[in-house]
Amino acid sequence: MVVKVAINGYGTIGKRVADAVSWQDDMKIIGVVKTRPTYECITAMQKGFKIYAASDDKVQAFKDAGFDVAGTAKELFEEADIIVDCTPGKKKEGGTTGEDYKKVYEELGKPAIFQGGEKHKLTGLSFNAFANYEKCIGAKYVRVVSCNTTGLLRTLVPVHREIGIENVKVVLVRRATDPNDSKKGPLNAIQPEIKVPSHHGPDVQSVVPDINISSMAVVVPTTIMHLHNVMVTLKKEVKTEDVINIWKNTTRVILVNSKHGFESTAQLMEYAKDLGRPRGDLYEIPVWKDGVSVVGRELYYTQAVHQESDVVPENIDAIRAMMNLESDKLKSIEKTNRTLKIIK
Ligand code: NAD
Repeated sequence: MVVKVAINGYGTIGKRVADAVSWQDDMKIIGVVKTRPTYECITAMQKGFKIYAASDDKVQAFKDAGFDVAGTAKELFEEADIIVDCTPGKKKEGGTTGEDYKKVYEELGKPAIFQGGEKHKLTGLSFNAFANYEKCIGAKYVRVVSCNTTGLLRTLVPVHREIGIENVKVVLVRRATDPNDSKKGPLNAIQPEIKVPSHHGPDVQSVVPDINISSMAVVVPTTIMHLHNVMVTLKKEVKTEDVINIWKNTTRVILVNSKHGFESTAQLMEYAKDLGRPRGDLYEIPVWKDGVSVVGRELYYTQAVHQESDVVPENIDAIRAMMNLESDKLKSIEKTNRTLKIIK
């Protein structure tokens, strides 16, 4: 069976998920929904992705701009086996486009995946492949958690399973916006998120409720990656090497060393480009090996998150789980890793 996938919202996440779907042999892209006839239409057409206008009244604008339009979003959804909703997590008038679209998908009886900008309550089921793949098998509505939550789950869940976590405190240093966005800031300031805990800690618990975690966050003027300073109280005393060995064997986590020149997020992004990754994406969560330290039961570490891409493999695994394409999470993860050329 080859699952027919529709992408709703062809932006930062949507275009990456579309490419990743097209690299699989058990799923294919049948079309992408766009709101405006912007430059992304050019590459979508070159890749053979059919373009669908978000609504009837927008069809003419695409034609006027010289782009082929296959129809409207609703027509695409009717044809799809599953919709990956990558629309913005917030809209100006309040609420989200995902909330609005969920009603449309429900009316059509179509399963859908939402992204981390949506609240957990939209689906009641939040996804991370390693943490809870099995729970999402055959599910109708699933939310793939945000880039930061994905990053935290990748490193915390294996430590929680193998050693046990009493509590976690994390300070997130967040990128201001994505590299393609010339409108948002801050441009020259550090902006604290005043609400404590920030939403990231509770969001980890939407996938693994028994990880006791709280978080604070600041936004800084960079577009390349988030950075997490993580402090964990473990349930028992272990050696630093024990934690490093866990991550050596953890999928989608890589260990990097500052002595090799990985001094900041800048070199991590250069590394991804040197690997020849499409768009310079780094799907794995890099942890600074020489920054890992266990003192008694206290574990300290620093990791980075490539916000534009770490959730992409998770979306592929979520499709497989929801569409019953694979019941063994490790087999799905392995297949996704292989097709996306993920290091491990
Ligand atoms: P984006 O703004 O880059 O892309 C959203 C796309 O949806 C745009 O192309 C926009 O034109 C389109 N869109 C807007 N209204 C629409 C509508 N009514 N119908 C169809 N399409 C519409 O946003 P993004 O960064 O790709 O984020 C998408 C989702 O992924 C959000 O929930 C976000 O929180 C989440 N997410 C983003 C990142 C990130 O760092 N960019 C990381 C992980 C998760």
